[in-house]
Amino acid sequence: MLRAGLSREETLSTLARIPGIYVPTHPTGRPVVRRRSADLSFPTASVVLTPESEFGDAFLIEIARGCGFGCRFCLAGHLTRPPRYRFLEQLRPQIAAGLCRRRRIGLVGAAVSDHPELEAIAQTIREQRGGFTLASLRADQVTPGLLEGLRSGGTRTLTLAPEVGSARLAAMVGKGFGAEEVLRAVEMARSAGLRRLKLYFMLGLPAEEEEDVRAIAAFVREVRRRIPDGVLSLSIAPFVPKPHTPFQWAAQLSIAETLRRQEMVKEGLRMKRVELSGCACSGRRCGRSASRWRRRACPGRGYRGCSPGETSVWSGCWRRWSHPRCPDGAGP
Ligand code: SF4
Repeated sequence: MLRAGLSREETLSTLARIPGIYVPTHPTGRPVVRRRSADLSFPTASVVLTPESEFGDAFLIEIARGCGFGCRFCLAGHLTRPPRYRFLEQLRPQIAAGLCRRRRIGLVGAAVSDHPELEAIAQTIREQRGGFTLASLRADQVTPGLLEGLRSGGTRTLTLAPEVGSARLAAMVGKGFGAEEVLRAVEMARSAGLRRLKLYFMLGLPAEEEEDVRAIAAFVREVRRRIPDGVLSLSIAPFVPKPHTPFQWAAQLSIAETLRRQEMVKEGLRMKRVELSGCACSGRRCGRSASRWRRRACPGRGYRGCSPGETSVWSGCWRRWSHPRCPDGAGP
């Protein structure tokens, strides 16, 4: 289309005719069908390299698509099945090309640590005197070899996503691992010399009770005992129901309740030298964060049938949507 020199309007109407592409300004009247690449024999890697981007110091290579674990809150685990991989032989040219441009390779995929050749890929990068980085590792797939590879490649932080603090909630969301695996991964990280740890949690999952919220703080205190001298940071994001997941119709917490539960976690972590994000430490920023997460649920579940109030969220008009006297009658 670019080569044909189509106008913007011609480009949009051509795209709208391709199954799997939804162009809001050109509705076809047919449901949008899901399309996926059955095999990944084509390469996907960084095209534009700039220090202004999130991973500006790395050359990104996609090594996997989809995830087979199916955590019940996660879109990737339900919409992008089955998992598909690019294997080492296929990746060698991209690794070589990437290391000519950057010292680090960023390995991209929904569940990268599930890749059957991850250690071999990491080893190949290291043999070429490069480093590598991963978005996050599943705690039950952390190995000493992977951690050593990350450390020697310049990574200082291990990122894990326990999501919940209690075994009861872990079983409910189908995470597939629990506190024991996370604590084992933390100890391996410590032995490998990784002194920074980032943990992701969610608040407000369906069936969450007060004891589950307290369990987050108790679990983090246990982690702190395992790395008394390390830097520990926590992201506590409110749960956002995603379409096409088993939790798609689950209710979201109110902003006030989100703030109350965030406070409970913070209270349980007093004096534990833990950095918090997602729920920042000052009350005002906490409120902003909670309302931002609540706002995110709306466009995620919306479609052409959304009320004007709901669709106004797209344009950032949060006040119009959340105001009780909103003229179009929509609200959270
Ligand atoms: S949370 Fe991670 S492991 Fe679970 S389904 Fe999503 S991508 Fe897979």
